[in-house]
Amino acid sequence: RHEYAFIGRSNVGKSSLINMLTGRKSLAMTSSKPGKTTLINHFLINDQWYIVDLPGYGYAQRSKEMQRQIKKIIEDYILERQQMTCLFVLVDSRHDPQKIDLEFMEWLGENSVPFAIVFTKLDKLSSAAAKKQTEKYRNTLLESWESLPPIFYTSSADMRGRNELLDYIEELNQLPL
Ligand code: GDP
Repeated sequence: RHEYAFIGRSNVGKSSLINMLTGRKSLAMTSSKPGKTTLINHFLINDQWYIVDLPGYGYAQRSKEMQRQIKKIIEDYILERQQMTCLFVLVDSRHDPQKIDLEFMEWLGENSVPFAIVFTKLDKLSSAAAKKQTEKYRNTLLESWESLPPIFYTSSADMRGRNELLDYIEELNQLPL
């Protein structure tokens, strides 16, 4: 089955986004390990595809050693999953491009991992500010990338971007594994 992983810095809004995506009544969600908190969680959607909830990175409260270990677990997981059709990298739309996110995307590129960018919490910005911030982000990416990955503009608060994301996943689900 196709897998779609979600990742980002701690507090970026990953849990909220996953809830937003799975919240629709027509999406039946089952967790592979119900009731258990594990580092990497899988949710089977409609008996058809998986959401993979990867741990947040860059969490200041964690020790350097713990951060290093989690980074290694994330990287090993990503590299071994052939069925990971797309990795969604979440970035908080209020923040300027962060080194840790840009470096992670570079690592994805070097390892030929297909990814898309998801701007979160857009409800927190005026439409003018949102336009300015996301344009700044795209321009930063274009300093090191020839072309932009797919980009989604979302808010879990007002459900913005939900259909676009689900439509994109639905489209990728049609591809052979
Ligand atoms: P995670 O640590 O990446 O899983 O982030 P959470 O989903 O737990 O969200 C972190 C904080 O941001 C929480 O206080 C959420 O209520 C808030 N949050 C998440 N998404 C949104 C959003 O789209 N809009 C607003 N206004 N707040 C959000």
